[in-house]
Amino acid sequence: MLVRPFRAASRGVAARLPGVSLPRSPWAFLGAAGLFVVAAILRPDVALALVVLGGGFTLLERWRPLRPQPPAYRREGAATDAGAFVIDQVLVAAAATVVVALLAPVVGPLVPSALPEELGSLPGWARWLTAFCVAEMCGYWSHRLSHEVPFLWRFHAVHHSAPQLDWLAPSRWHPVDAMFSAASTTLPILLLGLSPPAVVSVFALRRIQGLLLHANVNCRLGPLEWIVATPFFHHWHHTADPGRWDCNYAGSVPALDWVFGSLHLPDEWPQSYGCDVEVPATGYLARVASPWAEPPGGTVPEVLPGPA
Ligand SMILES: [Zn+2]
Ligand SMILES: [Zn+2]
Repeated sequence: MLVRPFRAASRGVAARLPGVSLPRSPWAFLGAAGLFVVAAILRPDVALALVVLGGGFTLLERWRPLRPQPPAYRREGAATDAGAFVIDQVLVAAAATVVVALLAPVVGPLVPSALPEELGSLPGWARWLTAFCVAEMCGYWSHRLSHEVPFLWRFHAVHHSAPQLDWLAPSRWHPVDAMFSAASTTLPILLLGLSPPAVVSVFALRRIQGLLLHANVNCRLGPLEWIVATPFFHHWHHTADPGRWDCNYAGSVPALDWVFGSLHLPDEWPQSYGCDVEVPATGYLARVASPWAEPPGGTVPEVLPGPA
């Protein structure tokens, strides 16, 4: 069919470019390339973010690599993850907005009417800080619930099934999980009357920090690791050690995990990543369908090569 000559020709071009290889599935590559073109036309900001952030984090991972592993754009599932990045920013974000709009009239009456007025009278920086703190607290508990409620874990396990962590790994996310996470942090901020620009900037910050937390970067900050989330902090959240699947839920401030008894900051990096749920490495739709696969089981991943 059409794909075979395309793949052969493309691999010929790729072979002449040092450090470049195509994904194993031509359909994944075509899908990701098509999505990228559509995003470049309809949402150039999303396409530009993927290129700029991808370029920046690829350089960072080459500068201070944690483990000897393939770059994010060359490993299995890279094209699916890149496609998921675009889908997440456009379709899932739009769907989460609809969910928030439907829930707001239902949950809104529970918020005392004086509270949005009080918060609205604060200076801009205080409103932004309040939005950040609300997002962090709600993000902590929605993330923890995603681990502790079996129904939610079936979707969140897609994110934890990644055997390699790098800047592209956070795009390995089930849309239901992504919508739950976005709605559970956006809805409280909006109900408190904190402005949409505050919501957008808080989410942009959390999104970029999310890429850093998963990056293959050897970075330690000493005592500051209690205050600022780092790759070391979040890599432990992804450990394949079944005895540690209940730690480091915070998105930005690890001290929150200390308050709620889930902080884990030992001296060493984790030995391997993943969980005991089988999720396809490639194919966006196959991943989306995986929570309904029976039985949802697998084996604990093997130990990776140690830090460089
Ligand atoms: Zn998690
Ligand atoms: Zn993660």
